[in-house]
Amino acid sequence: MRILFVTSEAAPLIKTGGLADVSGALPAALREIGIDCRLLIPGYPIVMQKLESSLQLVAQFDNLAGAGAEPIAARLMLAQMPGAGTPIYVLDAPLAYARSGGPYQDSNGIDYYDNAQRFALLGQVAARLAGADSPLDWHPDLLHCNDWQTGLAPAYLRLAGNAIPTVMTVHNLAYQGIFPPVMLGELNLPLKCFSVEGVEYYGNLSFLKAGLYYANHITTVSPTYAHEIQQAPLGMGMQGLLTSRNQDLSGILNGIDVNEWNPAADPHLECEFSARAPAGKKHCKQKLQEELGLQPNADAPLFGMIARMAHQKGLDLVLAVADGIIDRGGQIALLGTGEKSIEAAVRALVARHPGRVSALIGYNEGLSHRIEAGSDIFLMPSLFEPCGLNQMYSLRYGSVPIVHATGGLRDTVEDGVTGFVFEHPTPHALWLAVERALDLYALKPAWKKLMITGMNRDFSWQKSALAYQSLYQGLLAGQV
Ligand code: ADP
Repeated sequence: MRILFVTSEAAPLIKTGGLADVSGALPAALREIGIDCRLLIPGYPIVMQKLESSLQLVAQFDNLAGAGAEPIAARLMLAQMPGAGTPIYVLDAPLAYARSGGPYQDSNGIDYYDNAQRFALLGQVAARLAGADSPLDWHPDLLHCNDWQTGLAPAYLRLAGNAIPTVMTVHNLAYQGIFPPVMLGELNLPLKCFSVEGVEYYGNLSFLKAGLYYANHITTVSPTYAHEIQQAPLGMGMQGLLTSRNQDLSGILNGIDVNEWNPAADPHLECEFSARAPAGKKHCKQKLQEELGLQPNADAPLFGMIARMAHQKGLDLVLAVADGIIDRGGQIALLGTGEKSIEAAVRALVARHPGRVSALIGYNEGLSHRIEAGSDIFLMPSLFEPCGLNQMYSLRYGSVPIVHATGGLRDTVEDGVTGFVFEHPTPHALWLAVERALDLYALKPAWKKLMITGMNRDFSWQKSALAYQSLYQGLLAGQV
């Protein structure tokens, strides 16, 4: 079975969030069970640079619409992912992708003015590689698209009359790729598809809607989220379409990369520990306190949080309970970057509690591992969370998660068994969960039991890969 997996980010090449983790790990896990899965990704400068030694030219396009009013030329390169060795097609189109900022925004955090064209280009090439006129010898049996950036691929494929099955995975319905309808022509979309039965979304054009409408099957990254998005508010305007397609909608929980996230052999740590030999975690905590300038205190319950500083992640709730945590003798270590107003509020919290609260505003892969390893409790009160990865990393690293009962958080954390789950996203409900955690933390054997139970939970990709395999098989047999 040959699968072309199209994505706008993939770890360890380029990452802004969970999508990259999934794109790095799932194709590799699929290959391990005998599926020939290959990636397609834009050739951002960092990607070209990291893959440089293995890039091979495999095709050339000279008439692609997408990066502006004029057709542009692009090269398709083949390389291998570092580590896993997954074959990866890289779309080298400097006009679209050679930018000095991130994949979607410039260094000031402003969306690129031509994101519609940049990602239409990706969709167009994906459809070409999946269609009958592909320039490659390798022909996929199924096209697997991810998030709005790839949403036009199923539309292009269907509109061209080609018929391999397509899967659209929603990693976060809040990002919908919405652009003015005037772009239709430039994006090579016929006027007829600008309708409710097509790419139209409340008077605009939505890349995600295109994917949700034209793909043969829709998946999202947890069973609970698949259910939640069929209603307001989490359907975010797409609930009608998703409900009408609920026979074609399923939730498959993400896994985690258990090699990358392994407290027994983690190059980002100076200590090691495991469920069988958890003692080393104490050393990680001491090292983390040292690194972050927190008071050296083995008994202070240390709360960690790693998140994009976006409203979605529930930082407001954490800010509301932070003083209470400090009053009860706790410490807090935050890592994240994002909305300036949230960053400022976090800085103010640090200033109020020097030595008790530390925040690194920025992106730091190594520190994210050390926070998981060194903290006792992990805060993840997201207002909504399609799957969430950090709570699974936390479980594996013995940092007992406190989560809001939503999406993948509900599906992965068991209240009182592996963590603490609260039902309503209010400061009061979070505070009650924090108090329960602090009370149990004081009872060392009970705490250890909770922690070890979580550490022993299996979130490896294998289970998810098997679920995708059976979905693909069903679609290829025409049964899903
Ligand atoms: P989302 O995709 O909504 O951002 P997830 O929990 O699914 O949330 O995935 C986030 C991923 O990004 C995790 O691997 C997390 O550790 C990582 N991450 C987020 N912010 C940072 C940061 N500032 N530094 C390092 N890693 C981060």
